[in-house]
Amino acid sequence: MTAPLLDVRNLTVTFAGARSTVTAVNDVSFHIAPGETLGLVGESGSGKSVTAFAILRLLQAPGRVSAGQIFFEGRDLLTLPEREMRQVRGARISLIFQEPMTALNPVMRVGDQIGEALTVHGMASRAEAQRRAVELLEAVHIPNAGERVRDYPHQLSGGMRQRVMIAIALACRPALIIADEPTTALDVTIQAQVLDLLRELRTAFNLALLLITHDFGVIAEMADRVAVMYKGSLVEQGAVRQILRAPAHEYTRSLLAAVPGTTQDRGGQAPSPR
Ligand code: ADP
Ligand code: MG
Repeated sequence: MTAPLLDVRNLTVTFAGARSTVTAVNDVSFHIAPGETLGLVGESGSGKSVTAFAILRLLQAPGRVSAGQIFFEGRDLLTLPEREMRQVRGARISLIFQEPMTALNPVMRVGDQIGEALTVHGMASRAEAQRRAVELLEAVHIPNAGERVRDYPHQLSGGMRQRVMIAIALACRPALIIADEPTTALDVTIQAQVLDLLRELRTAFNLALLLITHDFGVIAEMADRVAVMYKGSLVEQGAVRQILRAPAHEYTRSLLAAVPGTTQDRGGQAPSPR
């Protein structure tokens, strides 16, 4: 087995309140190999986003990692000096959110936002960054990229804004993208297009993907392996084909039952990709 790119070991995240402490993530372990897609699936409130924020060390108080290690490219992110962590965040590991309108700066042209991702990490001069911004918009298949770089986010559709977010995430050629419900806010047709794009880019850029979703249908189409999260704990993980065929945990079965075409009562067949 190749050394994992990301190796999360026994991660526990707590939120301390005035009266009680909530354990949002409880002793969670998983790993992702270079170029691999791991799906992290679970219902709303199960601890998926908190896990993502913990990896990037973006948890806000009172949230904190109370136990565990997060090895990325061989170093424990939890013990890195903040200055080194800033070189990891956005450059080696990028994050794509559900709602691009809140993640994009409304008063900054999209080309400048892509360029900033590069200049902040010292990956390009300002002039070079503009040229790269056009290339990146082309890479995410935004038509007329040379003109669209001068647009503001509100001038683009939801699907195009999500493509801009993906362009920003790609800018520094990260090894890992964490995509937190990247298509949940989009309608079904656009959702499929964005998933197609992510699939194409991960091959082209040899990206590893931590794909967070509540939708097992997305996992079935996209992921190599899946980790199933329930109330802060991982209840099972394994190859997607294996878990679709024979989910071990009752909760996994209920998630699968919610997806059309993925019930197990079809002679043990894995669902065909839609
Ligand atoms: P999801 O799986 O929907 O992404 P989250 O990771 O956002 O779920 O949240 C998991 C749990 O963490 C929540 O159910 C809640 O108990 C706790 N939590 C998250 N953010 C906070 C916060 N700011 N303060 C207190 N508890 C929080
Ligand atoms: Mg979430």
